[in-house]
Amino acid sequence: MNLEIILKEIYEQVKNEPCDGMVTSSIPELNKVDPDKFGIHLLRQDRGDFGFGDYNQRFSIQSISKVFTISMAVRLHGEDIWKRVGVEPSGSPFNSLVQLEYEGGIPRNPFINAGALVIADILLSSLKKPKDDLLEFVRMASGVESIGFDYQVAASEKATGFRNAAMVNMLKSFGNLDNDIEAVLDFYFHQCSLAMSCKELSHAFFYLCNKGFTFDNAIEIMNEKKVKRINAIMQTCGFYDESGEFTYRVGLPGKSGIGGGIIAINPGKYSVATWHPRLNPKGNSVKGMKTLELLTTYTSGSIF
Ligand code: GLU
Repeated sequence: MNLEIILKEIYEQVKNEPCDGMVTSSIPELNKVDPDKFGIHLLRQDRGDFGFGDYNQRFSIQSISKVFTISMAVRLHGEDIWKRVGVEPSGSPFNSLVQLEYEGGIPRNPFINAGALVIADILLSSLKKPKDDLLEFVRMASGVESIGFDYQVAASEKATGFRNAAMVNMLKSFGNLDNDIEAVLDFYFHQCSLAMSCKELSHAFFYLCNKGFTFDNAIEIMNEKKVKRINAIMQTCGFYDESGEFTYRVGLPGKSGIGGGIIAINPGKYSVATWHPRLNPKGNSVKGMKTLELLTTYTSGSIF
């Protein structure tokens, strides 16, 4: 089976399909992106890699960054973090406030915004230079020194991030936030603004495919037990209230972002990243989901 040929065929097929998804309007700066950018990049366990379309162009990874921050928190604190955030799918939109209220300020999981804000708070309490440390982590995982924040995107989200502001205030009122709310929001908006390409993403997240080791086998990011946990949370919670749908259609652990990116992991086989900014009503990339669905269908390659 030649993965490269199969993926090229899928790329051509999906590229030409009509799509009525919408680019996000929740962050004004992201709304300026060309809606028809489309890229895919796959990195295999044997280090073979290939990409199609706009796979070298950087975009705002948004919530995909939550996989980096949970990885950093797990490296620092292990299982202790689960006292402050759960591992259950939320079944709610990523920015919902309702559940947080009636569940006493403990977010369902680290991939909804409330959970990611608690993880941001944990990192702020543990690191001397949290933003620099995050960049260092991403650069170490990807092997690309030039990866950085998009300050315009971070500022744009800061100017309009009223719902996230409400969320940190609610977390604070429940005693589940130690740091100043402005500091937590600032870190969170910057992590979401990380700009990376599909190729950089498939390399950066290869540790989740490779038993915790980076793509060049040089660095152990985390041990196998921790990889199991992160992949499990991606499988059950990576697509907000569409996590069941992604599991049903694609059958791989993954994570989406409202910039239109998706990463998915086939443990022991490959990591793959897609980018197409048109989103469905749940906030997930329409063509990204379709591409990955066809990939696992044509290759009989889901984890199930
Ligand atoms: N920065 C976005 C927010 O907090 C991330 C949402 C996403 O990518 O799902 O609303």
